[in-house]
Amino acid sequence: MPLAVQKFGGTSVADADRIRAVADHIARTRRAGDDVVVVVSAMGKTTDSLIRLAEDVSSVQPGRELDMLLTAGERISMALVCMALAELGVAAASFTGSQAGIITDTTHTKAKILEVRGDRLRESVAAGIVPVVAGFQGVSANRDVTTLGRGGSDTTAVALAASLGAERCEIYTDVSGVFSADPRIVPTARRLRQVSFEEMLEIAATGGRVLALRSVEFARNHHVPLHVRSSFTWEPGTWVTEEVPTMEQAIVSAVTSDTSEAKLTITGVPDRPGIAASLFRALAEAGVNVDMIVQNTSHDGTTDISFTVPRTELHEAVAIARDLAPKIDSASVLVDENVAQVSLVGAGMKTHPGVTATMFEALAREEINILMISTSPIRISCMVDAGAADQAVRILHAAFDLDG
Ligand code: ASP
Ligand code: MG
Repeated sequence: MPLAVQKFGGTSVADADRIRAVADHIARTRRAGDDVVVVVSAMGKTTDSLIRLAEDVSSVQPGRELDMLLTAGERISMALVCMALAELGVAAASFTGSQAGIITDTTHTKAKILEVRGDRLRESVAAGIVPVVAGFQGVSANRDVTTLGRGGSDTTAVALAASLGAERCEIYTDVSGVFSADPRIVPTARRLRQVSFEEMLEIAATGGRVLALRSVEFARNHHVPLHVRSSFTWEPGTWVTEEVPTMEQAIVSAVTSDTSEAKLTITGVPDRPGIAASLFRALAEAGVNVDMIVQNTSHDGTTDISFTVPRTELHEAVAIARDLAPKIDSASVLVDENVAQVSLVGAGMKTHPGVTATMFEALAREEINILMISTSPIRISCMVDAGAADQAVRILHAAFDLDG
């Protein structure tokens, strides 16, 4: 029988009614002739509440203990889903990440999956018992409980699908798929029927919040087709697959925005080999994730380097830059937290010139100033003032005719 991995996010299991609806859908899927492995997130905002509780209790939260706390959220969901299945006469058994054989590295709060030992789940499926696995968690090589970072249940689902050889991985959420823009910003945004892994990676990396970036990387590397869909309407959603047929390939598929980053500029940097290397090595060693980088052409032997980092890592990045600046005779470190990145993503732009020009013209018509630019073969991103981000998304969506 074909195997489907079905992952249900926090809103999909937010209360007793939602959990019963999920169980009903799992039962139907089995009746239709598929084997199912279920992955669940914590109910509703449970993870946020647990984090807040930890902060209230102590300003010191050792990673090992925070992970132990947060994994409790998914345990609640998995047990309740199994009970709801029992009432429907479907045999089911819950598994923690550790029991499901999710082996990770030892980096608490953002562990990486090293290996999936899927024997127990395979045995369960073979015995006709639906495994319901706690998402977002694993066990480290040191036998400590770990978590995979926020949104990590998507990654659990894809990793299990890959290791169990599932036919598909269905990600159930509160939106009906991947859209041409965030429908809260652009009400006329269109649901995409199909996007490629490459496009989905760019969408996830530039602010599209439907799927965790890591899960898309995993799906691409292991060729797991994803189906992102709603657990409220149960209608077909968006397929994320290898390649979208050229005929159907849009020049631009989606417009995204991301307000989670801040911009740093180091001015008056001496223009000689090794300076940028020492800066970015220091940032890397502190675990700071650098995104866009721009360096100007130097005129008088010095240059400016600007780069963006997640706002949550800004404090660290500024400390490192301020520490380094005097050592390289640089003038100063400037910080701008009021920025947003607006991006166009589309596999078709590889072969269509003029996308960049149209984008810049559309922004210029609305007097939106571009602070930084970065591109990939299938993405163009502009850094703009945070206050202009939503407007920029709307005008770009219109300029590229993406309305439904
Ligand atoms: N419960 C975790 C979170 O809220 C993992 C997930 O939902 O994927 O981040
Ligand atoms: Mg979630």
